[in-house]
Order: sequence, then structure tokens, then C-alpha cells
Amino acid sequence: MKFVYDFTEGNKDLKDLLGGKGANLAEMTRLGLPVPPGFTITTEACKVYLATGEEPAALRDEVSAHLAALEETMGKKLGQPDNPLLVSVRSGAKFSMPGMMDTVLNIGLSDASVEGLARQAGDERFAWDSYRRLIQMFGKTVLGVDGDLFEEALDAAKAAKKVTVDTDLDAEDLKKLVTAFKKIVEKETGRAFPQDPREQMDLAIRAVFESWNGERAKLYRRQERIPHDLGTAVNVCSMVFGNLGPDSGTGVAFTRDPASGQQGVYGDYLQNAQGEDVVAGIRNTVPLAELERIDKASYDQLLRIMEILENHYKDLCDIEFTIERGKLWMLQTRVGKRTAAAAFRIATQLVDQGLIDEAEALQRVTGAQLAQLMFPRFDENAEVKQVARGIAASPGAAVGKAVFDSYTAVKWSRSGEKVILVRRETNPDDLDGMIAAEGILTSRGGKTSHAAVVARGMGKTCVCGAEELEVDTKRRRMTVPGGQVVEEGDVISIDGSTGKVYLGEVPVVPSPVVEYFEGRMHPGAEDADELVEAVHRMMSFADRTRRLRVRANADNAEDALRARRFGAQGIGLCRTEHMFLGDRRELVERLILADTEEERDASLKALLPLQKQDFVELFEAMDGLPVTIRLLDPPLHEFLPDITELSVRVALAEARQEPHENELRLLQAVHRLHEQNPMLGLRGVRLGLVVPGLFAMQVRAIAEAAAERKAAQGDPRAEIMIPLVGTVQELEIVREEADRVIAEVEAATGTKLSLPIGTMIELPRAALTAGQIAEAAEFFSFGTNDLTQTVWGFSRDDVEASFFTAYLEKGIFGVSPFETIDKDGVGSLVKAAVAAGRATRPDLKLGVCGEHGGDPESVHFFHEAGLDYVSCSPFRIPVARLEAGRAAC
Ligand code: PEP
Ligand code: MG
Repeated sequence: MKFVYDFTEGNKDLKDLLGGKGANLAEMTRLGLPVPPGFTITTEACKVYLATGEEPAALRDEVSAHLAALEETMGKKLGQPDNPLLVSVRSGAKFSMPGMMDTVLNIGLSDASVEGLARQAGDERFAWDSYRRLIQMFGKTVLGVDGDLFEEALDAAKAAKKVTVDTDLDAEDLKKLVTAFKKIVEKETGRAFPQDPREQMDLAIRAVFESWNGERAKLYRRQERIPHDLGTAVNVCSMVFGNLGPDSGTGVAFTRDPASGQQGVYGDYLQNAQGEDVVAGIRNTVPLAELERIDKASYDQLLRIMEILENHYKDLCDIEFTIERGKLWMLQTRVGKRTAAAAFRIATQLVDQGLIDEAEALQRVTGAQLAQLMFPRFDENAEVKQVARGIAASPGAAVGKAVFDSYTAVKWSRSGEKVILVRRETNPDDLDGMIAAEGILTSRGGKTSHAAVVARGMGKTCVCGAEELEVDTKRRRMTVPGGQVVEEGDVISIDGSTGKVYLGEVPVVPSPVVEYFEGRMHPGAEDADELVEAVHRMMSFADRTRRLRVRANADNAEDALRARRFGAQGIGLCRTEHMFLGDRRELVERLILADTEEERDASLKALLPLQKQDFVELFEAMDGLPVTIRLLDPPLHEFLPDITELSVRVALAEARQEPHENELRLLQAVHRLHEQNPMLGLRGVRLGLVVPGLFAMQVRAIAEAAAERKAAQGDPRAEIMIPLVGTVQELEIVREEADRVIAEVEAATGTKLSLPIGTMIELPRAALTAGQIAEAAEFFSFGTNDLTQTVWGFSRDDVEASFFTAYLEKGIFGVSPFETIDKDGVGSLVKAAVAAGRATRPDLKLGVCGEHGGDPESVHFFHEAGLDYVSCSPFRIPVARLEAGRAAC
């Protein structure tokens, strides 16, 4: 196996082997662009090292051969005293892991070669500064010396000279600093700083291998769901210097604006500096366009290269470059990150330029980006004061009065105030406050902190980890940088899409993308912006491409109409229990608790016309499209009076010797029906089987509503769905009754009705016996909420707020299985049920209506699993359409 590739040997498609940076350096070399010569050690070599603790046997010789070739090209040897070749050793994994792994610059400098470098460069200060940087970086990342020790020595040198910036230290100061740094290394490691350049290089390569398994890198991979077994490549590259005087410098460039997608000259340049100076923010950069004035030849060359790269990669590229004494060098390029809006605009622009086709364009955008564009946002033109920036944890724009505890959040919001809950960090006790607040702001914690996870789950705006804020919950206030104090009740605004925090009220504007989906903004219209145009085109690409149909979870005509505007092709789940909340809850309560047939019939009679009217409205809104109505599936406790409240009422009445017979009877019944685990209790089909007449009433309401719509020349397409079935026998009994009721309505109305009857697959047993269940079901809809709950044994109402944060932090899963389908567990049951169901009934219609139906990654899974449709909440329909299109490419 070959472990080392010269930059002239690789190409951009070898990212697995050469890492992203190495593959792109090779690609630029192949294109004839000015890349400093070098070579890449493969990820395979890293994997061997990580597995055995030793470099592969052949590596040393291969590195020697490539180094010799490099020295030949450069006309100087690594660390050669009179004219040293210096190299950088940089990590480069397949996926970018910014700042997570190690880099060492200026390898090859030593007590001997530093003088040579000074003479060659004609700059003593530069040479000694390069040497002290090497000892500092090498000491910290390769030898594991505490970096603060070097920083302290540097500060001491500056203080001794009464200066504040590094650049005020001269060659003599830096020489002394080198001595001090070497002493630190010797004291901390027990050995002198290595003077042999080859030893420096080998140790640095090993350190990069090891940094793959550094704590920071492991955590980052868990969060970003990057596999742990990829390993990193190592790039050894000849050094070029941007800090050799005013005709040198370093910069970054983008071939398009990563914020808007517009083509143009975007980037920053810093004269007489190295890349790390830019990152450290020691001096201010100038806009890239200024380079034209500073060094026109290099500027023109850079622009030509940017065009070559964009046409070659057919995408926005970002670039790092250095100019060494008037000579331009390309240090890195990659397909650049961009905002959601830019992603859509760039994708359509590239189609128009003929660089990519529609299918490729679909791969350039994501449902998550579309979702981001659908949140309301702050008015860009508003004059506001940004005071801090945290992590953009859950998108949206929220404005409200700052409150510092959950209790106040709940109290104030009940009296109609809009509040932002501000905490250092949140815990499960804050849940009520989080629900009551418009948004959540914390000064601690990252993207998987409790606040972030729970807020995302609730779809609530959240900025977390805004560390510049000093939150003092005891005194109910926070201090922003600069010292200004925000008291309880002061208005603040937080932007969950950017992480920005503002004082005062920032005006919120609706998303133009939602205006478009709602039909209030039309592509092609004069006021339509380019983004709407781009989204419209991408949605048409997706609709033309996708196989999966997209339906909505909707329980009333209003939601159904919105879903239709958003592109729903039917309703995949109408939860009828939602129709019985509010005033009608009592009717269901009476039905469940009825002792006599008369009482029961009276409740059913009262419910029937109400239900029928619900369905008439729904069928009208969805005329011509399928509407799957699920028969009642309440966890029983939601429909019964609260047992504690009722007990108190009875006890009080007893004490006061007031009449309380009815209450007592009710309490006894509630006791009788009380369940420890209502979600596993008397719900779904079980309720339909034990409460006589309940399902029959609902089926009758559906059938009569359909008949009425038909009589009105409508085209109702109802489907009847039975929840929580575990065995085919349950379904058969319900079916028999339903068929009888439908026949009765047909006879009474003289209308032929076509009402398919199917079931939810939401229990493991149902999935495992899907072949039998399909005998009695014309369709399946996977209820992945309950299926996840029962397969994992996770209470869906509790776990996300209790221990999921810990699970996410430990990397047990990268995302909640209630959010993204657990492919290996729940997903494999779904696949098996699909196969078994279709084996019994080849034309079985298959869909999913759990929350996963609107989750991007899950949509891809359902496409692959061969479902016919996904069903999700109206607001997520565009995302599902887009992802279904992407999945089909
Ligand atoms: C499900 O369990 O996935 C489902 C859609 O039903 P519900 O969420 O109403 O239990
Ligand atoms: Mg369910």
C-alpha cells in the first residue's frame, strides 16, 4: 500500500485517502495553479498508527523519498543551515473539523538554520520570530507543554519592554524569547527542544495522527456525526511567508458572497502577515478589493484563479492564499460554506450558467436550510444595538421582556406579557418557563445543552452559550459587555438563526419564503425577491423529481387549507381526539364513564352530528385528495377529570356535609380506570373494542359526511385508520363493525361509498406480524412516535427533557430518536413490516405519520424503505417535498 502522495499525484476525488485539504491541494496542483510543493500522508497511515500505536513500517522510507524529491524541487534541504527548507505539517480529515486538530508551522528551524533563514530573507527579526513561533507551536501541540507558559513568557517580554503588541519586539527581544521558550520546553519535558529537522517533522506527523483522538476532536465528531474511524491525513507543505515585508501578505477569498450568493470580489487581505495573525485579530484586515491597489499583478492573477476554480468545482469556493514578495501562492481551497439563502440562490445561478443540472442543484440545498428560511426574522434595516453573540441553537426571532426564572416567565406570560427566559443554563425545572417564553437565552452550554435540545424540540427560538453575558439570576439581572445592566423587565431581542442578542425591541418581519408558500408573494412579481424566485424553482425541481408523496397531519379545515397551499397532497393523519378537546371533552368523559346503555347512547348521539360536521369541513377543504381519519386514540387520562382534584372536591364536600353523590360516583369510576402507564393502557383500538358504539359512531360520522359531500358534487376521499393495533384480530373485529355501519349509511343515503380501512403500525408486535395484519388492512401508516417509544422503551413525554441531554453529550446518539428515525432499530422494523405487508397484499398503500415524516434525514430513509408517502405538520411540508426530491436524485 502506498502511504504518501505527492501533490502532483492526487486529485479532488481522493478525499477519503488524502483528506479534504490534501485532495484539493492536489487538484489545484493538477490545474497548474501556484501551490507550494509538498506531499500528503494518507488516512490509511493514520489508521495503522491509531490501531497499532506505531507508524506503518514503510512510512519512514516513503516520507524520505518524497522529502528528497521536495528538496530537489526547492533546491534546498530541510533545515539546511545556510538556506533552510521549512515545511508546515497540517492535519486534514475528509470532513472539515475547524480548529479541532493540530498544525505546526516552520518545521526545519533550529539554532543552526535560524541564522541562515535570517540571511536568506535579509530579515533577522522575521527569522527569530519564525523560530519562536515554531518552539511555541511545537511545544504546545507536539510535546504537550501548557500553552499558557509560552503566553506568559511572551507577555513578560512585552512588559519588560513596555510595549503591548508582538510586532514591537525586535530581533534581540525575540532571541531572548527563544531562549526562554527553550527553557520552558526543557523544564516541562525533561529534554531539549529537538534540533534535528527530520525528528521535528516525524514528531509533528505523529502528533497530527494523535490529534484525531483528542478530546475536542472526538466531541466535535460526535456532535457532527462524523464517523470515528476515518482518521486524518497529514499535509507536509513547503512554507511560504506572508510576513516578509509590505510586498507580502495573506488573505482569504470567496468566489461569491457566502451571505447572498452574489458573484463578486469577496474576502479580506492582511499585508505583511501570516495566516495565524488574521485569526488572532492582531491587526485589521482590509477588503480584498484593496489588493488591486496594493499589488495589481497578484490581484489580477488571483481573480483569474478564482474563476478557474469556480468553473472547475462548479460551486462557491473559498480560498486561502499568501503573497510572498509579490508572488502569489494558493494554500487551500474548498467548496465554501454559505448561508441558507445563498445556497438556494447559488444553486439556481449555477443551473442558469449551465454549470450544473437540476438534479445536482437539488443536492446543493437542504431541507434544514429551507426550514431556516421559513422562520420570521428581524428587520435588516432596523437600527439596533447588538450586545452579544452566542450559539445559534434554535432558529427564529424572539422579542420580549427579560426574566431570570421560570416562575416569573410563567406568571408574566399568563398576564399577556411576552418574555425571554434568561438563564445561565437551563435544567428540567425550567421547562414551564421555557414553554411560556418567546425565546430562551443562556450564557453557558453548547448546541447539545439542555436549553438547545429542548428549545429545538419545541420549535422555540434559542441562543445559548452567550458567554459574554454575566447572568445573575439571584439579583435578576445580567450585565452585557461594556457594563450595561439589563434588569428584569427590560426588553431584549434574540436571533436564534445567528446567535445575536440585542437590547430593545427589534422589529420582526415575516419570512418572504412563507409569504410565497402562503400565496401572498408570487415569483415573477415585481416585488418578489431573488430568494423567492430561487426557492420556487428549487421546489419545482423537487416536485418533478420526487417519488414520495407528501401529506399533512391536520385536524381541522384551517390547517388543511394551509397544508394544501404548502403543497400537501392529502391528509395522512387527522387525529380525531383533537376534535374532542375543549367543550366537547366532557361528552367523551361521559361516554367513557357511562354505566348504562342509555347514558352511553345519549353521549354518542350528542357526539355524532359534531363529528360529522368536522369531517364535512375537512373533506371540503381537501376535496379530491385523500384524508386519512384516525379513530379515537386518547391516552385515557387526557379525557378524565384529574384524580387529585376530584378527590379534594369529594373530601371537601364530605367535610361540609354537602351532597356529593355524583362526584363520589365519578371518583370511583376514575379510580377504576386509573392507569399507572396510560400510554400503554386503554387507548387506541383497545378503547374502541371496550367502549361499545364509540368507533361505530365515528365511522358513521365519516360515512355520512362523505355521502353529504358527494351529494353536493364534492369528491371526498376518506380513509379510515385504526390506531394502536397489535394483532390482526383487533383489526378484524373493528373492520366487521365498520363495514356494517358503512353499508347502513350507503343504504340509507343511496350513495356508493369507497372507504378504505387501514391501520397504524406503531407497536413492535404490529410490525412483527405485519404480514398477518395486511390481510385485514388496505393501508399501513407507520406511527413512528409510538413505535420509537415502544421499541426503545422511552417515554415520549418525559425522556427528552430528562436524560437525553446526557445521552447526547455521551454520544450514545447524535440526535434524539424522536426527531430522526433510528434506522438500525425502529427503521429495520419498518423495513421488515413493509416487506411482509406487501408480500401479503402487493397493492398495500404505505405511509408514515409520526413526527419523522417531516424530518429531512428520515424522509430519505422512508424513500429508500419504499413508502408511498410521508405525512407531517403543515409547516414542514415544503421541507418534506424538497427532501423527497433530493432523496430521489
Ligand atoms: C405516532 O405514534 O407516530 C402517531 C402518529 O400517533 P400519535 O403521535 O398521535 O400517538
Ligand atoms: Mg401513536
